Amino acid sequence: MQKMRISRIMKILGGCNPDGVSTNKQNEQLLIVHFGELWLRGRNRNYYVAALKRNIYNQLRGEEFRLQDDYDRLIITPGKRSDIESIAAKISKVFGVSAYEIAHVTAPNLKSIVKSSIAVIKEEKLKNVKINSHRSHKGFKFDSMDIIREVAREAERIGADPAVKGFRSQIYISVKKDAAFIFSEKKKGAGGLPVGTSGRCVVLLSGGIDSPVAAWYAMKRGLVPIYVHIHGFPTNKEAESSKISTLIGMLSEYYNSERAYYVPSHIFQMSAMKSGRYELIMIKVFMLKLAEKIAKKEGAGAIITGESLGQVASQTLPNIAAEESAIGIPILRPLIGFDKLEITNAAKSIGTYEESIKPYKDVCSINARSPVTNSDIKVFKRIAKEIRLDEVVTRSLKSASIVQPESQK
Ligand code: ATP
Ligand code: MG
Repeated sequence: MQKMRISRIMKILGGCNPDGVSTNKQNEQLLIVHFGELWLRGRNRNYYVAALKRNIYNQLRGEEFRLQDDYDRLIITPGKRSDIESIAAKISKVFGVSAYEIAHVTAPNLKSIVKSSIAVIKEEKLKNVKINSHRSHKGFKFDSMDIIREVAREAERIGADPAVKGFRSQIYISVKKDAAFIFSEKKKGAGGLPVGTSGRCVVLLSGGIDSPVAAWYAMKRGLVPIYVHIHGFPTNKEAESSKISTLIGMLSEYYNSERAYYVPSHIFQMSAMKSGRYELIMIKVFMLKLAEKIAKKEGAGAIITGESLGQVASQTLPNIAAEESAIGIPILRPLIGFDKLEITNAAKSIGTYEESIKPYKDVCSINARSPVTNSDIKVFKRIAKEIRLDEVVTRSLKSASIVQPESQK
């Protein structure tokens, strides 16, 4: 195995063309992928790494590349038809990746290392550059200090002002037995755990800012999302082509969800007329009960919502208590302690913010007329019985449409 890996990298270096991987200029670069947190998991490590690799293969579907194990990291080599930047952009969205680097690869000898390092310094116009070197293979005649000295000497010669203190840029040289990698930037990955390693969840997704962010955090902790949206359109088709599917597409750039449920609200609306000030909490419980039913069907262990505490009048502890009294599986609220500004900033960096603020009539806002903030569980249960909530849930689910979301990739 080790032998095969070495010979492959050497073939790439030597300009051969094994299994169709060409050696044009682009292929002199590759991606080094680190998976920090997974190391903490001792004997489960293989399980996490296998899931991470599976997710990388899915994420890079359509790209030409090779994925290789390299002890505590993975190496991705682009093929002729793929571009390293496009692969790196996709890898930046894979949960479980703690960091990654776009590296130049060269032969593990002093001459090649110096030549390639200087090429990187020139190409990226690095000034006041600190040179770092790490040598994992100790069998060579030269050591890290020799590398740093030689590269610094050449860098000085071309006017790149190598520096140890007060540097403005850095270059990293990693020498292994079979190859040397050179890069100038360590990029932060999405972090978290590979999606799928914590099981599945049902995400109650509205068209607002919060729930897409909650879905992202659920994925970050390893949960596969199944999306459920309750809509007020006359037909499911209209809901399927609304901004909800665009939001799901954006979230699918992080992990391609298997299913999205679009459930009409009209059956609930017809029955809930008598709920008065409890109408908003009733619709919440209606949604949660739907989510619970779908979770059972999908083998999901939890429901995710975008609620935080006290953000709107209805998100109070007594209301949360009333909601939970009706549901038998965990309801997770990843944003419970977030301020609105923090959620908004997260939505911007995830990429869902602009879509979330586009106008959309959510069924919750239609019903929000001075909602009760201090729910009495007894009253709540009586109303639920009166409006035959369980029957409403079963009938609504029968009218739902189930679609396979497409990512925006
Ligand atoms: P969001 O920004 O996610 O819409 P919000 O601040 O508007 O949240 P609420 O209207 O109280 O707050 O909704 C709380 C949560 O209930 C949402 O985050 C979402 O998880 C769920 N939810 C609300 N409306 C819907 C809907 N139409 N379909 C599915 N889930 C919904
Ligand atoms: Mg909302």
